[in-house]
Amino acid sequence: MVFIPHECLRDANVKLKVQETIAHVVGWSLSCATSGVWPSSGPFGEVLSKHRKHQQGKPLAGGQYKACYFGYRADGKARRESHLFPRSFLHSFVCEQCLAQKERKNWEPLMSYKCFYQSAAYRMTTISHTDYMQHTRPLSPWRVIDGWHLGTVFHDPMHVLYLGICKDLYASALGYWIRQGYYGEGTLSDKLRCFSSELKRASIQQRLVVSCKMFTPANTGLDVASHYPEMGSTFKAAFMKTAIWIFAAKAMELTASHPADNILRLIAVCMWNLHRAVFLMDHADILLSNEEAEEISGCFELHLISWQHLAHECEVKKMKLFKIRPKHHSADHLASQLARTKLNPRRVMACFGDESFLGYI
Ligand SMILES: [Zn+2]
Repeated sequence: MVFIPHECLRDANVKLKVQETIAHVVGWSLSCATSGVWPSSGPFGEVLSKHRKHQQGKPLAGGQYKACYFGYRADGKARRESHLFPRSFLHSFVCEQCLAQKERKNWEPLMSYKCFYQSAAYRMTTISHTDYMQHTRPLSPWRVIDGWHLGTVFHDPMHVLYLGICKDLYASALGYWIRQGYYGEGTLSDKLRCFSSELKRASIQQRLVVSCKMFTPANTGLDVASHYPEMGSTFKAAFMKTAIWIFAAKAMELTASHPADNILRLIAVCMWNLHRAVFLMDHADILLSNEEAEEISGCFELHLISWQHLAHECEVKKMKLFKIRPKHHSADHLASQLARTKLNPRRVMACFGDESFLGYI
């Protein structure tokens, strides 16, 4: 695990040197771990001394274990910084793996990252590792690591889903339910407090050990109707993850009592499919069966397509809800990757364990 204080690396040359040095040391460490033998020199060819000199040539880990590079996992910012990606969520071309684009001057609307249908044009521009190595500059410093390739830079479901999409999903759903008069009584604060209490009661009933923060107009972003709402950063991933089934159940309940509202139905489809994908990933092993992979990727597809329709419906009605962001595009890649590799993102690509460790160092 590597911690990099990106904020302190303001100079581009310093940043590049830091990233290259880290990749070099990690590559050297993994190369030694793969050989299973203590090295006879340091990562920069330096002569070893003391304990390290004494150990050189001996088996590592008692000769019982070897290790190798498997994949890279981090949040979106660390992915971009560590690999020097010239295409990312901050750029007009939002993705290092394809040519999906944001709207801007002289852009190509057919390449919009906001389309999630299988016919989306960016799906025909997938960048292979060979293409990346030949045509992308700068290249990732991590290319020196044995086994590294573009496809092993994972999209972390903790940041993409729980700390990403769910923040928009909950705030927009609450916004629609409350502003359209489908939920609660009194002021906006009263209605949010009522929903928080309901969520807390449901969590206790289901014996979920999560701290339920009270929703307020400010921390849900619903205090200003002219902005797209988003849950604040004080909501933690564990809470965001467990809340999905309560939101999904509420969406079903409201849809059943107001069946004529198309947006309510779309919210229910959107939430329920994300909930189902999370449930299946939680209960599956590291390697998914063909059926599990197919169902999970299908749930992601329905979730994203229903979101696309919600964004359109809300735009037509001039409501600032259900914004589509580059993290939705990341979720799309997450789904296609799990369908192709059968790797369970929950077990392999999520940063849950890594970030919990931060509290101990
Ligand atoms: Zn892409």
